[in-house]
Amino acid sequence: MKQSELDRERLVKQLKNRGYISSQMLEKAMLSIPREKFIPENLKSFAYLDNPLEIGEGQTISAPSMIAIMCEALNLKPKLKVLEVGAGSGYHAALVARMVGDEGQVYSIERIARLADFARKNLEKVGIKNVTVVEGDGSLGLLQHAPFDRFYVTCAAPKVPSHLVEQLVDGGRGLVPVGKYLSELTLVIKKRGKVVQKNLGGCVFVPLIGMDGFGE
Ligand code: SAM
Repeated sequence: MKQSELDRERLVKQLKNRGYISSQMLEKAMLSIPREKFIPENLKSFAYLDNPLEIGEGQTISAPSMIAIMCEALNLKPKLKVLEVGAGSGYHAALVARMVGDEGQVYSIERIARLADFARKNLEKVGIKNVTVVEGDGSLGLLQHAPFDRFYVTCAAPKVPSHLVEQLVDGGRGLVPVGKYLSELTLVIKKRGKVVQKNLGGCVFVPLIGMDGFGE
């Protein structure tokens, strides 16, 4: 077994012991996606530490524990159609793509062209085919592919972007870190036309830039 595979197994075990991974689906997905392939060359040796890492353009790939919390909170299932805001390296989208399976689909919107390209190349390297990365302002959602069963935002917004809630199916769920610097991870549940929000706890994310965001 390669050192990177051993390190990945150790990290997954650690995340399970700490309660971040609770489903077999997420455990399998995390074991199958090599995080080092989503990280710039000079930082690859840190790939299996539970830390966010720089990916260029002032952006980061989130810590594995944060990504695990988000994947579990979304209650992902095979065949779902999911919208991600903030592709970054593409790693989080790769995990979600594995969890929704070949009959599911992930659309990911990234506002920085160079990162959209980085994410596409990384996803291709690991053989993920059910993620479509689109360049644009994710706070507007992606009307041409709506409605979505799930959405999640990987950057902090001042409030839950209304377009994303509108583009969610009835019975769907979304996740948004709300608030600048120290944000609250907010779960949105849409049921029979009503929208309920639950605070899942504190988190730290780079800001969402754009119409429903904090501005440049
Ligand atoms: N999910 C990513 C990963 O696995 O590497 C990490 C994403 S990073 C924490 C947040 C990303 O959100 C950045 O790439 C940033 O450019 C992007 N972003 C910020 N505002 C955005 C917006 N309005 N629309 C789309 N992407 C946005």
